Amino acid sequence: MEKLNLKKQKCFNHGEREAVAMCLQCHRHFCRECVTKHDERLLCNNCLSKIIEEKKKKKVNFSFLKLIILYFATFISLILVFFTVYICLNQSIKSQLDLPSQINTVEEDK
Ligand SMILES: [Zn+2]
Ligand SMILES: [Zn+2]
Repeated sequence: MEKLNLKKQKCFNHGEREAVAMCLQCHRHFCRECVTKHDERLLCNNCLSKIIEEKKKKKVNFSFLKLIILYFATFISLILVFFTVYICLNQSIKSQLDLPSQINTVEEDK
């Protein structure tokens, strides 16, 4: 008797229709029209849209994180390049200052 009753479950969305499947997510019964196969699992449209939305959110977050990492990497490499150029310039200025004192005095006279 109980098995027969289970088979006569009505669709959660359509009270007049007989349910043919149960959603694995919310365990409600639905008619053929209300369930969709997703990753080899039967889900109702409500649960399916929720899962898709969550996946979208995760995707957005992931790409956002990637963007931050990319910006950070670019920023660090820029700093490194700037620092290297700064050190090179500093060294060349120092070597110029180490030049014979004649040039220095000429420049000071200007
Ligand atoms: Zn569901
Ligand atoms: Zn239905």
